[in-house]
Amino acid sequence: MTDSGGCELRDALERERILKERLAESEKERATLEAVLFASTARLAYWDTKTCNAFANRAFLDAFGYEEKVVGQHASEVVRDSVDAPLWAAALRGEPQRVARTIESGGKTRHVVVTFEPDVRDGEVHGFVSTESDITELHTALVLSEQRNDLLMMAEEVARIGHWRFDVATSEIYWSPQMYKIHGRDPATFHPGTGPEILAAYHPDDRKKVHDFMATSVSTREPFEFVHRLYLPNGELRQVESKGRCEVDPETGTTRTLFGIYQDVTERNRERETAARQERLVTAGTLAAGVGHEINNPLMYVSANIDLALEGVRALEGSVPQRRIDDLLELLADSREGSERIRRIVRGLRAFSRPDAPLAPTDTRSALDISESMSGHELRSVATIIHEFRDNSLILADESRLAQVLVNLLVNAAQAFVTQDPKRNEIVVRTLGIESERMAIDISDNGPGIPADVLPRIFDPFFTTKDVGKGTGLGLSISHSIIASMGGELTCSTEVGAGTTFRITLPKAKDVAFSDTERVSAPPSTKRRRGRVLIVDGEPAVRRSIERVLGDEHEVVIAESSQEAIEIIGHGERAFDVVFCDIALPLLSGVELFRRIRDRDPALADRFVFMSGGVYDPEAAQFLDGVPNERIEKPFNSQNLRGLARRFAAARDD
Ligand code: ADP
Repeated sequence: MTDSGGCELRDALERERILKERLAESEKERATLEAVLFASTARLAYWDTKTCNAFANRAFLDAFGYEEKVVGQHASEVVRDSVDAPLWAAALRGEPQRVARTIESGGKTRHVVVTFEPDVRDGEVHGFVSTESDITELHTALVLSEQRNDLLMMAEEVARIGHWRFDVATSEIYWSPQMYKIHGRDPATFHPGTGPEILAAYHPDDRKKVHDFMATSVSTREPFEFVHRLYLPNGELRQVESKGRCEVDPETGTTRTLFGIYQDVTERNRERETAARQERLVTAGTLAAGVGHEINNPLMYVSANIDLALEGVRALEGSVPQRRIDDLLELLADSREGSERIRRIVRGLRAFSRPDAPLAPTDTRSALDISESMSGHELRSVATIIHEFRDNSLILADESRLAQVLVNLLVNAAQAFVTQDPKRNEIVVRTLGIESERMAIDISDNGPGIPADVLPRIFDPFFTTKDVGKGTGLGLSISHSIIASMGGELTCSTEVGAGTTFRITLPKAKDVAFSDTERVSAPPSTKRRRGRVLIVDGEPAVRRSIERVLGDEHEVVIAESSQEAIEIIGHGERAFDVVFCDIALPLLSGVELFRRIRDRDPALADRFVFMSGGVYDPEAAQFLDGVPNERIEKPFNSQNLRGLARRFAAARDD
């Protein structure tokens, strides 16, 4: 053996030793790896190019019920099912495969993901690895979270509340579907991230407020809550409430996101305002009705006495210097005019007190009379009012509520004029029969008209184009519902530059004699008979004034109470032609008196005329609605009272 031969041998031995060491190491690594893979909870197996098993871990073997290894066996034997055969073939072509499966076994449902990953080395497929991971828990959590999300979206839709999230670092904004709805935007085309556009949708006075609330919240990390106004793309202005808070990074202490909810509160606020307003109206109404009632009685005898004084002064003609008579007549005429105006105003006040008053045959002219005297100061200096009564039929309505609507339409017309020029500005009030059973009342002005973009909204509550303090935006919406509640319609036609017409359509009253003493016309005086009249009223001055008015023509008998009336009627030799009976009598009411008389003498009960100061208790109102008797509202004027008494007297003559 040469030296060089000895060296070679040593080198060869050394190489063999290193090789053995490396082999041992790699064997150790392989065993470790195999142990790891074998213990993995995910199911793992390796298949060679013939789809025969080269490795299967514990989880895999357990799943298919093997006690021992299955090395060398074909996949179809191992899994006892070859539905995956196409996937194996694809994996062996070098194409990775992945499928999600739901497996029902032993009454349990499992969700798994199966993969077949080709083992490609040096551009050659040596086999493939199959894995199966159980994602049941993940799947359940996912489904739950989806369900929760669906529920959230449903709740948002029902409550019309949206939610949003703003990432401070990236400035990215997320909007829930309801956010888009509240903003009137299409999620397909609108991106809330494009800041200026969304800020432009806020009312100019609110933009700074929105910005400041957000900025303060980011720096102070305090929650925020505020209301601001939002313009929809169609120009509508809505009120929205925004509530939110920050999510803080626990490590850095900085604000990570802002998130919150967003709600359209326009309707809610409207309802609150309407309720508050309604409450104020009820209080004002109760007050107005009470005051009206208190004024009615004294006004009644003031008016009646003025009439009598006028007649008395006229009777002095010839015996007193004419100038003195003329002075007195003028004075009394002025007083009469004054008391007439008070009477109209008091009647107007009833609009507050009886919002659900029953419908009765009504003369448009008298409702108009009330409204014009109530809105007089707004109208006279602005426009000339022209009346065109083409149809004088009575309509079925409540005079006070109709008057309320007419006041509103007249004032609206007056306020629409740009200038205060009664020579140029005209308001025409026209009544005309339309269809067979209906009547139209048109209120037309030659004002500026209503622009097309305003017209669709004029009947909306709180919509107004007028300055703060001048318009509430409630007039037309209330008028619309009043007319609808009386079975009618309120419509509008307009032309910019030419003027506007509001039309009230109401059913005509059928088969009506009369119900309002103001329209009573007395039968010709030649036929007059001295009638017998009973007056039942608790107030002495009222009794006296009626007695004075009727005493010349009729025998007037007075009763201070229902009990006294019952006695008088019981003892009377000659029946009364008419009984004027106050409703609000103390102790035994007028209604109670009527009931008792009706039991004994129904014909006399038919000749009862009820007098009222305009306020009914609901029970009395209901009762009176059910009987055909006349009703007259105090104060009534002398002429009409006489006319009514004559009519009853004449009727008993026939
Ligand atoms: P308000 O009078 O308080 O504004 P309304 O409900 O009565 O409330 O009216 C709503 C709006 O309809 C008014 O602000 C006005 O723009 C319009 N309007 C009503 N009547 C007329 C009219 N005769 N001419 C022009 N515009 C009118």
